[in-house]
Amino acid sequence: MGGNLKDRLKNRFVGSILGVAVGDALGMQVEELSREEILSMHGVVRDYGKAPEGHPNDRLEPGMYTDDTEQTITLLVSIIEKGRFDVGHFAMKISEWGKQIMEHPELDRFSGGTSKKAIKKLLEGIDWMESGEEGTTCGSAMRVAPIGLFYYYDLDFVEKFARMSSTPTHSSHGARAGAMAVALGVACCINDYPIEKMVVEVVKRTAKEDEELADKIQLAYEIREVDLDEAVREIGNSSSVYETVPFSFYSYFGHADRFEDAVITAVNAGGDTDSIGAITGGMAGARHGVESIPDRWLKNLENKEYLIELAEKLYILAVKDMA
Ligand SMILES: [Mg+2]
Repeated sequence: MGGNLKDRLKNRFVGSILGVAVGDALGMQVEELSREEILSMHGVVRDYGKAPEGHPNDRLEPGMYTDDTEQTITLLVSIIEKGRFDVGHFAMKISEWGKQIMEHPELDRFSGGTSKKAIKKLLEGIDWMESGEEGTTCGSAMRVAPIGLFYYYDLDFVEKFARMSSTPTHSSHGARAGAMAVALGVACCINDYPIEKMVVEVVKRTAKEDEELADKIQLAYEIREVDLDEAVREIGNSSSVYETVPFSFYSYFGHADRFEDAVITAVNAGGDTDSIGAITGGMAGARHGVESIPDRWLKNLENKEYLIELAEKLYILAVKDMA
């Protein structure tokens, strides 16, 4: 692989990880608000801000991210420490993260109930194969970008390890399919797939685990040009994997040429805005690289240098055996 190509690839790894954090941090201030509430309070969310008083995120400063990025970091650190994805190691790391926030609730950034229930089981010594919850929330989809990056050169690997990465916390077919879809989306973006090719690949592979989710991603592609309100009506914006994941694909497919527009669409959906923002940002950042992320978002992002360092380490590991 030539030097320029390598630089470009590294840039996209960094773009994807920063994209997750930027989307999460933009969505943080309006998480769980309805589309109407966002419109009346903000008009359109274009910049970081504080969540309203009394909101679970009201302790966070503008530019700070939530559990989506924290779990993404946990997965990054696990892959970097092991040199590959190791589900047992990841389960241990995610339970260490969960232990911290359960012992110090003031550190809890509105993390999901499914993850916490499963983490309690892991901490009680239950094996990762048994600890997962059956719910279909999006907690394993929102954190999975590193797998799409690390195994970008082989979509069979992406599919397999994304599915596996869901299991310790989210073991339902829907949740596992959500993790697969998002990791595959990120890998397709790294590989420069045009959206017509990306949707075929993502839908075909996701359908092996859950046809309902695959159909809804297909729908997201077909309605990619409808306006935001209609998309919310057709897809939904709750933390269900059947809504967050297709909504993220809608946001990306409709604005596949511009990071900023895709992410603004995502975080203005209402509902699970931080996760929709994180998933969309992870794909758009993988496609366009770090320069596509507006400076005003990079400048004030929490832990930016640390995120860059982790993304670069992941990149070095991913390409180390390639000529
Ligand atoms: Mg969150």
